[in-house]
Amino acid sequence: MPATSSNKPYRVGRSKTGLGLFATKPIKKGTRIIRYFGPILDSRIPAHDEIENKYLFELNGRWTIDGSVRKNLARYINHSCRPNAESDVRPRERKVFIRAIRNIEPGDEINYDYGTDYFKAYLKPIGCKCDSCEKKRKKLRAEARAERAKVKARDERKAKKAGTTSPKTKAAKKKKLNGHAFAKANGRARV
Ligand SMILES: [Zn+2]
Repeated sequence: MPATSSNKPYRVGRSKTGLGLFATKPIKKGTRIIRYFGPILDSRIPAHDEIENKYLFELNGRWTIDGSVRKNLARYINHSCRPNAESDVRPRERKVFIRAIRNIEPGDEINYDYGTDYFKAYLKPIGCKCDSCEKKRKKLRAEARAERAKVKARDERKAKKAGTTSPKTKAAKKKKLNGHAFAKANGRARV
C-alpha cells in the first residue's frame, strides 16, 4: 500500500468495494483535498488514444489525464451518487482537484460523483455499491416486504369475511372435514 504523508488529511484504507480514500482529519466544506494527476493524454495522438483504463479522467474532447499512476492517490477515491466531494475540473490548466462539498469527519470515506458516462459504462452493469444506492435498495426491499405483508393480510381479511379461506386455512379446514366430525355429521363411517 502506498505511503501516505501524515500531514495530509487522508489515508488509503479498506472500503466495501476494495480500497478507498478516508479522511484522517476534519475537512471543511470547500477545501481542496487532493489533486487527481497523471500523464496528460492527447486524443489526437493515436498511441494516446489507444490507452484504456478505468482511471482516465477526461478534461475535454482532446485532453485526458491518465490517473492510473501509483502516486496518484486520488485514484483510490470511490464513486458515490451522494458524495461528500466533487471534482473541480480545470481544462485550461489541465488539472483536476477533488474538493469537499460537505464537512468531512475523520474516518469518513471521501467520494465524488464519477459522472454519467462512467456510471453507465462501469457501475450500472454491476449495480452501484455506494452507500446511497445500498440504502435505496434496502428501502425498496423493505417496502416490497411491507407491501407483500399488507396484501397477504388483506387477502386473509377478505377471505374471512367471504367465508372462504386463504390456501393455508383452507387446507386446515379440509383436514377437519375429512376427520371424525365430518363423517359423523353425514352419518357415514370413515374408511
Ligand atoms: Zn450509487
